[in-house]
Amino acid sequence: MLNFVLFGPPGAGKGTQSQKLIDQYQLIHISTGDLFRAHIKNQSPLGQKVSELIADGQLVPDAITIAMLEEEVDKNPEAKGFIFDGFPRTVPQAIALDEFLESKGSSIAGVIALDVDQEELTKRIAQRQLESGRADDQADKLQKRIDEYFSKTIHVLPYYEAQGKLSKVNGIGNIDTIFTELRAVVDQY
Ligand code: AMP
Repeated sequence: MLNFVLFGPPGAGKGTQSQKLIDQYQLIHISTGDLFRAHIKNQSPLGQKVSELIADGQLVPDAITIAMLEEEVDKNPEAKGFIFDGFPRTVPQAIALDEFLESKGSSIAGVIALDVDQEELTKRIAQRQLESGRADDQADKLQKRIDEYFSKTIHVLPYYEAQGKLSKVNGIGNIDTIFTELRAVVDQY
């Protein structure tokens, strides 16, 4: 299996670039944010448990997120590989993912971090709010999400850097130019 993590702060373009990667490489895309939103929409017990946290821009506890992610991977036993989008967001999640994949004789091949500065992120999310109406894209919630990123999620980068798996890609500019850079990374594997 060829597994990648697509990493970056809220608004970095993970969703957009994931879509292009899936089309190109036939990998299974797992976005924990999308999975949570589907649970909330369906009003499942999990959705009811996490909806307030998510609407408020906070991270969902690791145990809940890891269990949901593992269940999703297990639904795709024939997968050529996965693109993890929005996961891991904490170091315990990264460790859990490594252990889980290792138990299947697999691993993370590479981690691609989309690099976008804060000013550009705030601009993009303001635009996205006009289009998506996501409650957690409102200015104060968005600030909380960006704070969660810089206090908890950013520590995932050195974790993968120490494993020699981290590649940074400039996430500002033309979508196709960014994708070309992403492909250059993926094609090394
Ligand atoms: P996203 O669509 O990736 O921006 O995720 C939306 C929201 O879902 C986040 O702000 C968190 O509340 C929650 N979420 C998604 N992925 C994770 C994760 N890996 N760990 C904790 N919370 C998450």
